[in-house]
Amino acid sequence: MGVRDDAEAIAPELVGLRRAIHREPEIGLDLPGTQRKVLAALDGLPLEISLGTTLSSVTAVLRGEGAGPGGGPVVLLRGDMDALPVTERTGLDYASQTEGTMHACGHDLHTAMLAGAARLLAARRRELPGTVVFMFQPGEEGHAGARHMIAEGVLDAAGQRPAAAYALHVASADWPAGVVSTRPGPMLAAAEILAVTVHGHGGHGSEPHHAADPIPAACEMVTALQTLVTRRFDVFDPVVITVGSFHAGTTDNVIPDDATFLATVRSFSPAARDRLHSSAIALVEGIASGHGLTVSAEFRDGYPVTVNDEAETRFAAGVATRLLGEERCLAQPNPMTGAEDFSFVLEQVPGAFLMLGACPPGADPATAPNNHAADAVFDDSVLAAGAALYAELALQRLAAVSTLPTP
Ligand SMILES: [Zn+2]
Ligand SMILES: [Zn+2]
Repeated sequence: MGVRDDAEAIAPELVGLRRAIHREPEIGLDLPGTQRKVLAALDGLPLEISLGTTLSSVTAVLRGEGAGPGGGPVVLLRGDMDALPVTERTGLDYASQTEGTMHACGHDLHTAMLAGAARLLAARRRELPGTVVFMFQPGEEGHAGARHMIAEGVLDAAGQRPAAAYALHVASADWPAGVVSTRPGPMLAAAEILAVTVHGHGGHGSEPHHAADPIPAACEMVTALQTLVTRRFDVFDPVVITVGSFHAGTTDNVIPDDATFLATVRSFSPAARDRLHSSAIALVEGIASGHGLTVSAEFRDGYPVTVNDEAETRFAAGVATRLLGEERCLAQPNPMTGAEDFSFVLEQVPGAFLMLGACPPGADPATAPNNHAADAVFDDSVLAAGAALYAELALQRLAAVSTLPTP
């Protein structure tokens, strides 16, 4: 039987695991319940398992026996495991039992699919021409879990660097269930926080000339940042700046000392990101000094651009096409403005990030609730296809490396 058939045969267990994780979602870097469920699902498989120390990650290494002496190359497969601070409104019978926490980004499916791939590949250990590292990662949603796992050695877990790394991400909208979409080059944006505090001097609202009012200057900065986007950046290497938080003052007739705002900043190339860093800071400093004020402004740690390697993306799209059919594999025209910490892995290992449609049957992908929405629904029917795709990516990539002529 092929990988796809074997994946269909274990689909009921994958659905069970996915729903168990969905019922008990956990947020951030510490996901002890999820980690326990993953370990139970991997129990009995011939894997070398290590657990994270600063986060509840699971790294599992499967050493194939089909490569002969030397062990062959290494491929890394990543699935993230964390949920979001969202109160679920799907009405599903396996909905979150924790108020305020929901698997609204489908990471429960990634976890189940990756555990499924471990089973599928373990069953093929004899002929597997290399080693597979399964990276079960907490803290994707803003906690840079991938960076923590890299710091704890996930890229060296097999004793040698992976030749390639792949990740799948489900989507509750945009694509029909079972459709894969990817592109070479930038796949997702770099995301950072621009934090600004304008320092003035408080006073009576009736006598602004005796105070140094930070509010008009901060408002000017918010609108000037939008002008910066359109006047200083190439439309074909775009950036997005959204001020999502703005706070100042307590009441109508008191000028406050400070005004603060936070913006999310997205970009798609290192050049645009560097330019944003210098130009946005210079802009707010210039406006502050023009009004006799001072400002503290900084970019806070974010995620870099998720860049798909050209050759690996072509390879992965070929695997998906052969596995799922040509009509189910789309070449994505544009990057997405979301961000992903798999970018940290792709900074060090060539690889590809692929979207997998999981829109429920009967729903229109164009109007279905998006990832992160309280009513987003991800369909179980894609679990077997996702597990098979993970497994085939590893199998075929290891085979491709081992058939390359040695120099
Ligand atoms: Zn998300
Ligand atoms: Zn996600």
